[in-house]
Amino acid sequence: MKSKIIYIDMDDVLCDYQSGYKYYKLKYPDIKFPQSIKGFFNDLAPVKNGVATVNKMISSEKYNPYILTAPSTRNPHSYMEKRIWIESHFDYNFTKKLIICPNKGLLKGDILIDDIVAGKGQESFEGDLIHFGSPEFPDWSSVSKILF
Ligand SMILES: [Mg+2]
Repeated sequence: MKSKIIYIDMDDVLCDYQSGYKYYKLKYPDIKFPQSIKGFFNDLAPVKNGVATVNKMISSEKYNPYILTAPSTRNPHSYMEKRIWIESHFDYNFTKKLIICPNKGLLKGDILIDDIVAGKGQESFEGDLIHFGSPEFPDWSSVSKILF
């Protein structure tokens, strides 16, 4: 059986961007875009059960997982910090599966797990979209259930 190519978004799917944003906004109230401060992406906490579920995909023959994240183009640190985040929460090997791309519709694959369904090419992705955070898939347990 051919393994399915599955793309996993980072912000608010694997990393808790919203909580990070709130924390930085409180810490730096005078800065308009606290998400552009160096270290913002490094510091993001993992979303519950996300890393464990992706590790399950990594060790499963059923899936060939990649991280697919759109960059914050105004924040050059984000490109490096997303790479560092992957090594911190997975390992060096998985950094080879990190794709930073502004148009997710250009990628070929079977499944995309994303919290946003349009705007960064999600709307033209040809595979199945798992809408993370929707009533059907509010968390990683519900996603894991449909995948395994
Ligand atoms: Mg996202």
